[in-house]
Amino acid sequence: MKRLLLSACATALVFGAAPALAQVGTPALPRPLPAIPEPQDRAYPGTIGYHVDATDLDHKVIRVQQTIPVTGGDLTLLYPKFLPGNHADTGPIQLLAGLTVSADGRRIEWLRDTLDPYAFHLSIPAGVTQIEVAFEWLTQPDNAVWRVVMTPEMVNLQWEKALLYPAGYAHSRITFQPSIQLPAGWQYGVAMDTVSFENGRATFAPISLEMLADSPMFAGAHYRRIDIDPGGRSPIHLNIVADAAANIAPTPAQIESYGALVDQADRLFGARHFDRYEFLLGLTSRMGGIGLEHHRSSENTAPPGFFTDGFTRNFGSRTLLPHEFVHSWNGKFRRPSDQLTPNLNEPVQNTLLWVYEGQTEYWGDVLTGRSGLATKEEMLSNLAEIAAFYENQPGRDWRALQDTTNHNLLGYRTSNPWPSHMRGTGDYYREAALIWLDADTLIREATGNRKSLDDFAKAFFGVDDGAWSPKPYTFEDLVAALNGVHPHDWAGFLRSRLDAVGPGARAPLDGITRGGYRLVYVDSLTPAEKQVQTGWANDFQYSLGFTLGGPTNRIGGILWGGLAYQAGLGAGWDLVAVNDRAASAEVLREAVTAARSGATPITLIIRNGDRFRTVSFDYRGGLRYPRLERIEGTPDRLGDILTARRR
Ligand SMILES: [Zn+2]
Repeated sequence: MKRLLLSACATALVFGAAPALAQVGTPALPRPLPAIPEPQDRAYPGTIGYHVDATDLDHKVIRVQQTIPVTGGDLTLLYPKFLPGNHADTGPIQLLAGLTVSADGRRIEWLRDTLDPYAFHLSIPAGVTQIEVAFEWLTQPDNAVWRVVMTPEMVNLQWEKALLYPAGYAHSRITFQPSIQLPAGWQYGVAMDTVSFENGRATFAPISLEMLADSPMFAGAHYRRIDIDPGGRSPIHLNIVADAAANIAPTPAQIESYGALVDQADRLFGARHFDRYEFLLGLTSRMGGIGLEHHRSSENTAPPGFFTDGFTRNFGSRTLLPHEFVHSWNGKFRRPSDQLTPNLNEPVQNTLLWVYEGQTEYWGDVLTGRSGLATKEEMLSNLAEIAAFYENQPGRDWRALQDTTNHNLLGYRTSNPWPSHMRGTGDYYREAALIWLDADTLIREATGNRKSLDDFAKAFFGVDDGAWSPKPYTFEDLVAALNGVHPHDWAGFLRSRLDAVGPGARAPLDGITRGGYRLVYVDSLTPAEKQVQTGWANDFQYSLGFTLGGPTNRIGGILWGGLAYQAGLGAGWDLVAVNDRAASAEVLREAVTAARSGATPITLIIRNGDRFRTVSFDYRGGLRYPRLERIEGTPDRLGDILTARRR
């Protein structure tokens, strides 16, 4: 009940003026538009029949048919707008086409809402008891705006992008009966209960809209399902689809690492909030990349050769499944109260995204280390890269971390030409993870290592073992749980870091020092560090203040206020020559290194269209890459945090 009370407030605030506007503002329409009914905690009568045809791989079109029980009068159908895990209004209404509605073979014309393009108004004739709704989801041929979800070998079906549902009801109280037609010979992974699967047609047990929207499918011509928790208390499987059958060949050691991930998550949280869990993993260069959490599954992609020849090389892909798995506890079970909305069209708010994403980032990386999916050296290098980015980020002069949690609501797909100045969506993941490291090491230090953030994880996420209903929390609940582990001014601790802004604001790096390390900059990296800091060869951001990219050596990532910025460099310049030599990243690295002891500055010739410029840097600092260096004589708390727990 709490969630509906909360959401009722949000509804009143946001849509309070809509009914009046809708009635007066529509004289040019064929009929008056009714208001969009607000979601109520009541069951939608009957079950919505729902069939998806995912066989048109040539056109990349998903076809949808729905049979919706109705009574006569006004009915508003909604296309989902605020999608789970997106934290924003990203529902691709722009890709819905071919919408027709009929009853007993007669068309019923729909009228789109003039204020909310996600809403379709219908006037159902008296005596009609069900309507047939059909439309297409025109999925994308490339990843330019939305990602590719259909290839000749696989489909990633997110049901919430391929359905309409009645307004006026909580999405937990609307029941769908889903089925899907897949291409011949395909198999699938999904966290729903299959009733039958014959001739490519799968039928599932009735499911609430809330869970349907949280239960995507990966289907493909090449598929394998691996039990990674044999004999566990609830089944956990790795479902792999791939561009080619030969890619689906994880080694026993790799499978064992994912089993260790499950064990370490059990030891960390001490409870499970799912009856089954399905990792969905696409090994692909054709389908668009994804890492998206769900309560009982997650959508993930990695390069085609991830298991066969790229496991070591793809550090980022190794950290992905741990992150998404943690979300089952943090984000799905424990849910920020302002994200727990009654349906998929009520606005979410993101004020606690630094917990939802930030602490998930923290535990995801910790579990990556504890499970053996990455080495301690790799995890320390990853942390060094994060720490260096925020130590050198000037954006906190004007913008606090808390403000970046509103960023998603401003739109996902905005370009960000000055990330160090603008800040952005990465900060409530990675900078927030530094805050949680800060908290973890503070608890460890203050309690003589008797307590840690692990105790918080167990107390906060490990309650109500076996329950899956989302358990909302507020900032105050979080502070209380931290105080339960170790009494401290946690509200002040968190607020002073989340709201830090202005010239005196500093990145939250105390956890690194308390963890027994210092951030230093070195002029060369070890092979393991290069696997983590994959852009190192083109990375001059902590020396000259930019990075190089692409075949033309495009200068990018210019650090706001850095040396290149001071020299007047902005977007669009290519590096042509370095000290009279044709430019390459390697030539520039040699020049930066030689300038340490030489007497001459580093001279660059740069080009932007038909304009050329010569820029000189009197810089002697050499190449600089971040590393965490052990502070001898102090406890290695980072090492302890990353060490596998034995119980
Ligand atoms: Zn996440």
